[in-house]
Amino acid sequence: MTSLDDLPIRDDLRGRSPYGAPQKTVPVALNVNENTHPIPEDVAHDVVARVAEAILSLNRYPDREFTALREALAGYLGHGLEAANLWAANGSNEVLQQLLQAFGGPGRTALGFSPTYSMYPLLAAGTGTAWIDAPRDADFELTAETAVAAVHEHDPDLVLLCAPNNPTGTPVSLEVIEAVADAARGIVIVDEAYFEFAEPGAPSALTLLAGRPRLVVSRTMSKAFAFAGARVGYLAADPAVTDAVRLVRLPYHLSAITQAAALGALAHSDEMLATVADIRGQRERIERELAALGFRPYRSGANFVLFGGVADPHAVFTALLERGILIRDIGLPGTLRVTAGTETETTAFLEALAALGSAAV
Ligand code: PMP
Repeated sequence: MTSLDDLPIRDDLRGRSPYGAPQKTVPVALNVNENTHPIPEDVAHDVVARVAEAILSLNRYPDREFTALREALAGYLGHGLEAANLWAANGSNEVLQQLLQAFGGPGRTALGFSPTYSMYPLLAAGTGTAWIDAPRDADFELTAETAVAAVHEHDPDLVLLCAPNNPTGTPVSLEVIEAVADAARGIVIVDEAYFEFAEPGAPSALTLLAGRPRLVVSRTMSKAFAFAGARVGYLAADPAVTDAVRLVRLPYHLSAITQAAALGALAHSDEMLATVADIRGQRERIERELAALGFRPYRSGANFVLFGGVADPHAVFTALLERGILIRDIGLPGTLRVTAGTETETTAFLEALAALGSAAV
């Protein structure tokens, strides 16, 4: 049998592993930080009607500039943003990939603060960008001093700030983002994939965009918006940034079906986001109950919790899976990560974990 190594693959990709969060059909899937609530049925019907309309014109290429979608996204974000500030792609992973294609590449560097989103180094590798792992402070926090010191030390072409950070949940203050944006010579990407789960009224990095043309805020419809299967991510930045990603995007990269579906979901954004407060409540419940069970939950501004104090993470992961509950072993010693699900799913997780008893702690 031919193996990967037999192929004339790029030397810098040899020996690497692809992104591989397990995909399993289980009753309680709390492993990839989706919104586990289904889409409201009336929204689904409107999305279907819009997609059906789009299908009648599938003989034609879609709007390459997805203008209506960019306008709708600008309206959703507010902050005085306009369509020219917005860009979208098939998930924010593709948005990040396009940014790395445009601003990274061979001979260039991208810096992140590990542990952070596992796709960053993979996207860097795929685009031939050298990845630099800078450390965090205690408990995975990130202060302006630590972040700025790393920027000064490495002088990267791109900085990726995951706010809040996956997999740790750690919120990132605007003060840190502002300090990094001021210190960096290159592009600073603030990945706000989980922003909608922050405390109501918490400021977004969108408030820092004016006058900072190298600052980019990335968002997604995959998390709070409950639209992961549709694959829609987007960015807000100076219009010059969207000009840059136009140089590397594939023409017509957002299908007419995707555009129609996203417009449908955005037309019902209040309904699509109606479960966010409940999910935040379940996250707080997880934090409380895990602490009561003797685990050590880390501070989270997202819809998931990383918790330490797990004697054997792999054994606990497997024992939960045997009970139909899939969480995430992200390979950080002594920890596991769980997504805040519906109340029923969260109860199933907490009860199963409690039943494992002291063996787990
Ligand atoms: N950024 C972060 C921090 C994420 O956790 C994820 C999804 N796990 C993404 C980006 C990408 O999500 P999507 O491509 O679905 O928008």
